[in-house]
Amino acid sequence: MKLSQLTAYLESLAPLALQEDYDNSGLIVGQSNMEISQALISLDCTEAVVDEAIATGCQVIISHHPIVFKGLKKFNSKTYVERVVEKAIRNNVAIYAIHTNLDNIMTGVNARICETLGLTNTRILAPKQNLLKKLVTYVPVAQAEQVRKALFHAGAGHIGEYSESSFNVEGTGTFKGSENSNPYVGEPGIRHHEEEMRIETVYPANLESKIIMALVLAHPYEEVAYDLYNLTNQHQQIGSGMIGELEVPMDEAEFLGEVKAAMDCTVIRHTAFTGKRVKKVAVCGGSGGFLLKHAIAAGADVFITADYKYHEFFDAEGKIVIADIGHFESEQFTQQLLCEIIQEKFVNFAIRLTKVNTNPVKYFI
Ligand SMILES: [Zn+2]
Repeated sequence: MKLSQLTAYLESLAPLALQEDYDNSGLIVGQSNMEISQALISLDCTEAVVDEAIATGCQVIISHHPIVFKGLKKFNSKTYVERVVEKAIRNNVAIYAIHTNLDNIMTGVNARICETLGLTNTRILAPKQNLLKKLVTYVPVAQAEQVRKALFHAGAGHIGEYSESSFNVEGTGTFKGSENSNPYVGEPGIRHHEEEMRIETVYPANLESKIIMALVLAHPYEEVAYDLYNLTNQHQQIGSGMIGELEVPMDEAEFLGEVKAAMDCTVIRHTAFTGKRVKKVAVCGGSGGFLLKHAIAAGADVFITADYKYHEFFDAEGKIVIADIGHFESEQFTQQLLCEIIQEKFVNFAIRLTKVNTNPVKYFI
């Protein structure tokens, strides 16, 4: 199939618009119209992973972390980033990254950590704002349903577990077309009164152009009247980190023992135990230190993340146990998650999980 079929599917689940500003998710190397028959999945796209793709005949590497974060100015194989990009280009291997856009969705990196730890009642720890917008449009009553349907089909009206959400009220619209107009109802040059439905519905901001296109195509008027509103509501299904609960509360040491086994950690660096039993657990794959305040405010007993520095551990202040399980360890199951996501949609497409352990951190025990 074409690479674009795979990337369009991945982006329908984890839209690129949901990535953080510093990120570089998306197609980094390669052309979207190239033919692919096999993909290699990895957490990092290192030189060894590119070698593996070449050796196994994979035309694309899907990695969680982007190999390129910042602009590259020279291509002379002096850094590992340049060597990876150069080698991939020379060998027609595409590189695609699905990073913070996969972190920020309800079924992404953090959901997989929650699942691995057996957490239930999970929700986003720090939901994002300004991702939702509202559309208001005015449609002749007889055509209201066709417009509603088109808007819902394009992705409007989804709120959590609810779809096809809208608010509707009838009223009278007026308009007078110019001599050059071709009104759907009424006569040019004469003010017309029409019974219309005012339809309101919310939509994710990243789908705006698709939704407006659907509205204009389904609406009978020559000039479609609509208003777009910015909403400051939080989007409960999009954001950083997750929080969930253990079915049976347990002792802190016992819980960290379970985490160590489940997440296959060599070591866990953590702050002093508080003496409370662990019920609520906040998680964030990778560098999640910025979420500590959210974890404490949400009443988490333990915060599982990675990349903690010495001074940052003091911020626990006896309110919570910070558990740094290692960046690679926290995100390693993302590889399986990606395999499952792709396999579910493209049943006959070959997926290969990398055999390279890309963790740059080694433990001397
Ligand atoms: Zn990461």
